[in-house]
Amino acid sequence: MITFLSKQYIWLYFKYNMVDILNFINGNFAPSIHGNSIPVFAPSTGKIYARLADSGKEEVELAFNAASNAFESWKNTKSEDRFRILEKIASLIESKHEALAIAESQDTGKPLWLTRKVDIYRAAANFRFFATAALQFSSESHFMEGEAINYTLRRPIGVVGCISPWNLPLYLFTWKIAPALAAGNTVVAKPSEVTPYTAFLLAQICQEAGLPPGVLNIVHGLGASAGKAIIEHPGIKAISFTGGTATGAEIARIAAPMFKKLSLELGGKNPNLVFADCNLDEAIETSVRAAFTNQGQICLCGSRIFVENSVYEEFTSKFVEKVKALKTGNPADESNFLGAVVSESHLQKIASYVELARSEGGTIACGGNILHPECEFSGGWYHEPTVILNLNHTCRTASEEIFGPVVTIIPFEGEHQALEFANHGRYGLAAMVWTNNLQRAHRMAEQLECGIVWVNCWMLRDLRTPFGGTKDSGVGREGGQEVMRFFTEPKNVCIKYN
Ligand code: NDP
Repeated sequence: MITFLSKQYIWLYFKYNMVDILNFINGNFAPSIHGNSIPVFAPSTGKIYARLADSGKEEVELAFNAASNAFESWKNTKSEDRFRILEKIASLIESKHEALAIAESQDTGKPLWLTRKVDIYRAAANFRFFATAALQFSSESHFMEGEAINYTLRRPIGVVGCISPWNLPLYLFTWKIAPALAAGNTVVAKPSEVTPYTAFLLAQICQEAGLPPGVLNIVHGLGASAGKAIIEHPGIKAISFTGGTATGAEIARIAAPMFKKLSLELGGKNPNLVFADCNLDEAIETSVRAAFTNQGQICLCGSRIFVENSVYEEFTSKFVEKVKALKTGNPADESNFLGAVVSESHLQKIASYVELARSEGGTIACGGNILHPECEFSGGWYHEPTVILNLNHTCRTASEEIFGPVVTIIPFEGEHQALEFANHGRYGLAAMVWTNNLQRAHRMAEQLECGIVWVNCWMLRDLRTPFGGTKDSGVGREGGQEVMRFFTEPKNVCIKYN
């Protein structure tokens, strides 16, 4: 089994060896029961580099039994001890930062500079943050003058399911698992079958950190088999899911009749509103990042850019100039801002939206093509960063989630129209507002239909804040106290004085 190799050797290892990605159940690593596996591709080359345990109902049952047995002891483990183990996991992630960053880049195709700067750093931060949450979480009491006191007892739910997507694999996997464990639950988790590698490495870290067997179980496999088995399992009482809106709807359909607690973080098509009174250079700089970081494959990316008429020409020409200067290719080359997109099918989906934009009358201001970099990367899945103009805000290109390096820029006139454009459509995850007018910032923040508003910034994250979306972007909130409440069951206890 490959564990953690040093920076010099890990690329060579991937070149000449097939990695076996195994399930982690009851503290042991094992292939799927029937020995089936799924190929895992490196998006940067389009080549298979790993085999993934192809699991289903039987493995989920084993994982559930292990989690269920471990629950009695984990729920009564003192918060100081939970803190120590979670903090140790955070420290181990930090100590293996470079190997994890390389593995994540290999698995997703995203640039190594990004996995170093964001993904792995944030995975450690998630564990550290929720380690301290285990110590600090408290519940309310309600006093009835002279009569009684109520207090809210908050206990862990039991065995919970965590299912995460491919775009920020370790970052989002740990964002669910860490609070679930901190609150005293045991977990059956499934990472995306497309990007499972760092979840496998995390299992090794948890073992090294002394997490008791069965507290975290990771079952690999397809959404339609392993994922569905977690959702359908009658003993798994809560599901925390991040992924597409259609999958979220399917999960809700299955889980709702069983009255499972559900947290659904789903798709987005986030508006970025640029008013003429803003610091335009800063807005352009950040809007480029917000559009194309991780090849546009972040649920928070600002892919619908709306610019006030009076600065539309200036914004667009400077924005396009900057996008033309972005380089795409080998994820390990620090000069590339964009790496590969996650899969061949996703690349084709992105390309089909560019075709759609053309047929809807859009003008491709830059990009628009699939790329074939040289040498070993020629078989990888790359797409140019693409800017589309002259479209209406209601057309499909400007309303549907593409989840790739494609943005539209559309002019607006005044606050009323800005809001009309921004609030159009089924999604309501995040929005950006660029303005130096304080009153306007508050007015827009209040009226935008979404769960997160960034004013004059993007992706500035405080892990204590509520995270999630409205409309078809999801149900419930993650982060801070919100997620600790999600992962606990409140019980009111009323004590009469006499
Ligand atoms: P999917 O919905 O396809 O998959 C998400 C996870 O669910 C994967 O692990 C997948 O497994 C699994 N899955 C698929 N079908 C089922 C099922 N029937 N039952 C249980 N599990 C299932 O999303 P993607 O992985 O394609 O991720 C991209 C999407 O995630 C985008 O829409 C994006 O907006 C959204 N997202 C939302 C975020 C938010 O915070 N709101 C953050 C990040 C992404 P497998 O991969 O093996 O099929």
